[in-house]
Amino acid sequence: MARTDGDRCPGVLAVHQAADGGLARVRVPGGRLTATQLDVLRLAAAELGDGRLELTSRGNVQIRGLQADGPRDLSDRLFAAGLLPSIAHERVRNILASPLSGLDQQSRYDVLPVATALDLALCDRPALADLPGRFLFALDDGRGDLAEQAADVAVRALDERTALLSLGTRGVRVEWNVVPELMLAAAEAFLEVRDQEWRIAEVARGEELVLERLGLRATEGLPAETARVAAGVHGTALVVTVPLGSLTQEQAAALVGVGDEVRITPWRSVVVPAGSTGLEEVGLVITPDSVWEGVTACAGQPGCAKALADVRADATRLVSGMARVGRMHWSGCERRCGKPGAAFVDVLAVGNGYLVDGERL
Ligand code: SF4
Repeated sequence: MARTDGDRCPGVLAVHQAADGGLARVRVPGGRLTATQLDVLRLAAAELGDGRLELTSRGNVQIRGLQADGPRDLSDRLFAAGLLPSIAHERVRNILASPLSGLDQQSRYDVLPVATALDLALCDRPALADLPGRFLFALDDGRGDLAEQAADVAVRALDERTALLSLGTRGVRVEWNVVPELMLAAAEAFLEVRDQEWRIAEVARGEELVLERLGLRATEGLPAETARVAAGVHGTALVVTVPLGSLTQEQAAALVGVGDEVRITPWRSVVVPAGSTGLEEVGLVITPDSVWEGVTACAGQPGCAKALADVRADATRLVSGMARVGRMHWSGCERRCGKPGAAFVDVLAVGNGYLVDGERL
């Protein structure tokens, strides 16, 4: 499928111009930030943007509301903090890793060192800077929590020695020591076989063509089980839900203060050490039954020119105090950006109020 539109996936240098100013997306491979790096992002949001840190569905961080000279200042700060190791590769460091890897009993293998090795090797290959900004690598520690992410190149731990490598529908057993090399070889092969497609799944027979170039045949079915990680204590970690994935200054500062490292999940939550305190007091959620576990919203006003309402403010006002409703998505217009893949309660702004699953609120 040839594309006529360009790859406009935002980064730190290729900032997207939104209605409320520049929007920068900072890639966080493996979702790992030191407390110092999180504080650098927090201060940058306060001094250059609108003060908030947005968590994305790929475990990255966005800063909105940047003024004209904001991106340059931001990139200088990120470079100094080790968050921009390669200018050329900044938009292609899309590497997800199971956020609880190595922290609880369900983790069959700690994939975070593999994520780090993959990131270093990726930045070391100039040709891979041409990957589309949407191309995704995923490293699952065996629990199946990343299965819904539909990564282009995924591995899932089977045990300490082996993993299942897959590019879509079937997998092939490989040893961990060759995983980074194979994942990058798959990305290079994709660049060879694609026209202007952004994902392997968009290329006709893409999975087969890429595997052929690697000299591999995927014959194993993928494990059916998936496990989304809920808020609460898991082994030595505490998963904390961030309402609407948007951290205030106070919330980000509280997270900076609880440990040496914070892990960003793809579910708009963060992982901190078990026993961390002072988080509920600033509006973060540490229990699994909160309504916020399933509520998402698009950017809405003032970030999007198409929005008919400030959906985030309205959701915050109306959802707080409700019982859990499963998945619910608030949209500022009929495009419904960021809607969940599975069934959800549809809250749609229509200019003079909202429709909920088509009925007037
Ligand atoms: S759903 Fe509409 S209002 Fe919301 S971000 Fe997308 S285009 Fe903008």
